[in-house]
Amino acid sequence: MKSSHPSRWKGKTNLSSNSALKKTCWRLQSKLVRKRSANWKGLVRCYTCGAIKHWKEMDLGHYIHKDCFNHEEDLLRVQCTHCNRHLSGNLGVFAENLIKEHRANKFQKLTSVRYSKKDYTRKELLEIRKKLLQELKKYE
Ligand SMILES: [Zn+2]
Repeated sequence: MKSSHPSRWKGKTNLSSNSALKKTCWRLQSKLVRKRSANWKGLVRCYTCGAIKHWKEMDLGHYIHKDCFNHEEDLLRVQCTHCNRHLSGNLGVFAENLIKEHRANKFQKLTSVRYSKKDYTRKELLEIRKKLLQELKKYE
């Protein structure tokens, strides 16, 4: 996801609407997964092409692009900007790797759950945000 005003975002603002809250959660989630996936040098491998870069230069890709926030961590993987943006997530390889990683039936369950999930409530989003902020502290 492209952030046009990174300096304005502190993780604590933008709580006015559910969609702003979702964006905040997504950015926290993205930062968390990228940081957590990086090695001690801060390097991380792209899930779909294998390119290795610093986590700050990577994106967080989601297997299903239904909306901008998806809390199913099993479907979120670090990707380079080329795969995520130019190849629209490189979803063929993404799916292949997910199936290899999880068993095929779990993969199916994951994707169908995601499709049937209704939108998050404000309360759920605030909970998710709180958890993500706590989790991120471990990697500061
Ligand atoms: Zn890539």
